[in-house]
Amino acid sequence: MLRLEGVSVRFGARAALDAVDLEVADHETVCVLGPSGSGKSTLLRVVAGLQEASGKVFLDGTDQSGVPVHRRGVGLMFQDHQLFPQRDVAGNVAFGLRMRGAGRAEQVRRVAELLELVGLPGAQGRAIAALSGGEQQRVALARALAPQPKLLMLDEPLGQLDRGLRERLVVELRELFGQLGTTVLAVTHDQGEAFALADRVVVMREGRVAQVGTPLEVWQRPASEFVARFLGFDN
Ligand code: ATP
Ligand code: MG
Repeated sequence: MLRLEGVSVRFGARAALDAVDLEVADHETVCVLGPSGSGKSTLLRVVAGLQEASGKVFLDGTDQSGVPVHRRGVGLMFQDHQLFPQRDVAGNVAFGLRMRGAGRAEQVRRVAELLELVGLPGAQGRAIAALSGGEQQRVALARALAPQPKLLMLDEPLGQLDRGLRERLVVELRELFGQLGTTVLAVTHDQGEAFALADRVVVMREGRVAQVGTPLEVWQRPASEFVARFLGFDN
């Protein structure tokens, strides 16, 4: 599905990504972990086509050099979610459906299903400004899921939610991704979340991939002291 070869991004003298190689298979859920500033969001932005990079990005075997964002068939939920403040909840969630040319009845039905899924049933008419941070995050998640992209990328999708809701949503998301056959690349700070959601995890350090493996492999055999310490095995 996705392959990165030698992807690098520099901001001045700093490498936000430094020769990253990574593959994500069809229907796989991969979670990216790593300290703040290790390049996680930059990685997603490069795949989405929002960030210039050297090296190559392939989606379904096709080199994405020069392919614009809307032609890549990927969905991205941003860390700061970037909802449209002038539209209501339904208008935000339906955005990708409208872009895809879905009819009115399909939009209404899908929006209701998605809001149910993220725990906001009946919120269609609410104003974005009147929602809490966690509620906005759930709307953003519903919006990212709506067009059923072949590759769904989520940047801290559950970051502002309380633990109970996170735990419920992780289970539901895993089930949903399985049902839809969605390939997922998700960034999270929360190890528990990554380990519950991911088929494989990627641990980033200073723009490089420090380790890739199944949650069990990474947990049982951290590749370096950095990974072990990051996972909290230092005490
Ligand atoms: P966090 O967990 O805090 O979200 P992250 O792993 O997502 O961190 P990135 O946002 O990918 O980190 O940033 C990686 C590095 O690149 C950081 O040092 C950051 O300051 C730098 N960086 C990111 N975007 C820009 C930009 N537009 N201009 C300059 N530097 C940037
Ligand atoms: Mg980030």
